Amino acid sequence: MHQVCSPNPDNFIACPDCDLLVAKINPPAGYKSQCPRCGHILLHHCRDTVSRSLALAVAGLLLFLPAIFMPLLTFQRLGMSETGNIIQTVVKFFDQGYSFVALAVFLSTAIFPLLKLSLLAFVSLCLKIQRYPVWLGKLFRLHNHLDEWTMVEVYLLGIMVTIIKMYGSTDIHFNTGAFCFTGLVVLIMASSLSVCRESFWILIEGRGKHSFQMLHADNRPLQEAGTAAANGLLLCRECGKLSSTCMDVHEEKEWRCRRCSAHLHFRKPASLPRTWALVISAAILMLPAYLLPIMRVDFLGIPRHSTILDGIKIFFQDGSYAIALIILTASVFIPVFKVVGLAIGLLTINLSRPRFLRQKTAMFRFIGFIGKWSMLDIFVIALLAFFINFGFLTSIETAPAATYFCLVVITTMLAALTFDPRLMWDQLNARTERSENTTHPGEQ
Ligand SMILES: [Zn+2]
Ligand SMILES: [Zn+2]
Repeated sequence: MHQVCSPNPDNFIACPDCDLLVAKINPPAGYKSQCPRCGHILLHHCRDTVSRSLALAVAGLLLFLPAIFMPLLTFQRLGMSETGNIIQTVVKFFDQGYSFVALAVFLSTAIFPLLKLSLLAFVSLCLKIQRYPVWLGKLFRLHNHLDEWTMVEVYLLGIMVTIIKMYGSTDIHFNTGAFCFTGLVVLIMASSLSVCRESFWILIEGRGKHSFQMLHADNRPLQEAGTAAANGLLLCRECGKLSSTCMDVHEEKEWRCRRCSAHLHFRKPASLPRTWALVISAAILMLPAYLLPIMRVDFLGIPRHSTILDGIKIFFQDGSYAIALIILTASVFIPVFKVVGLAIGLLTINLSRPRFLRQKTAMFRFIGFIGKWSMLDIFVIALLAFFINFGFLTSIETAPAATYFCLVVITTMLAALTFDPRLMWDQLNARTERSENTTHPGEQ
């Protein structure tokens, strides 16, 4: 294997979206270092991240049990009432035979938030008291992965949509659980914002010594493409550390990150076939998700099935345009946008058409950011199926499309994780190399 001797990895930072190598600098407080090619935020300077994260995580843990187990809301109609908490809405899904949806709701609203807060509290406490167990890096990696699968904020929006939907036809009372849950959502979102991953990793690696070093310029010239891969450097996608392959290439066949011990690859393994498989699966699952009924409403003994689109139409007919637009965006626009956006990225690579890459990379980042908001409709149905249970008068039950829709959300989120945007930029690098370098046709 032809091996390029890499420059000192400590002097550079590589963009995780386009693989461009940028000299490492220490941005002053309030400033960010941004990738000049694709706009990705590479570094930003933050202070007191550990103390702030520890305080927020502990406060979140204190609120967790009341938020999950205390009653959220009470719905009353004609002398009948229904009161319940988050766990009871999950149990209702199980009772109705929708175990997969119940599990997805339980994990994303209870287990993952608890795990995320506990891990953050533990890791920041270790850093605060300067204890560095060997698996600290692994725990922090797990915490970072839980970010996109923790969906309490989407559930809170689901509560608001449910209240607006039933306002007027049912008396709704807020219970203590609703206030605790809102507090929990605020603390989880604030803790996510307060964690400066780069600072945490530097502290974990340096065992407490936090210093951005202004390094001397590397006198080794960079390869023409200027990417980490072209210079024999491997970027760890877990912690952002660059590793040189020169030192390791003869020692071991698989590379591991020295900072967090994650497996290292120049590009995500089998990214194209895996992402295609997930995108095609999501597109196929969309058919039953949109065509089959997602809930059954029994009014005075007369059952009526409604699909996702029927529900949106009813909101428009009732004049609730804001809610109709929110559900339309979360349930239709976002899943379709994710599938189409990822297919465009995949076709860019398959057809070697490296155009509008900055815009396509920004679109990919947006797809990763909006992924979880599609779960909104599932949460609204969980709440309606539990609270609207007034016997013969009116009741709401879950219908089969809920499982298919949940699968669409999960497959599109996984597709966003398996897609490697650097492969799009590789097409541009290859094209530039072909047009400029006629004397050295050898490949990297
Ligand atoms: Zn970039
Ligand atoms: Zn790493």
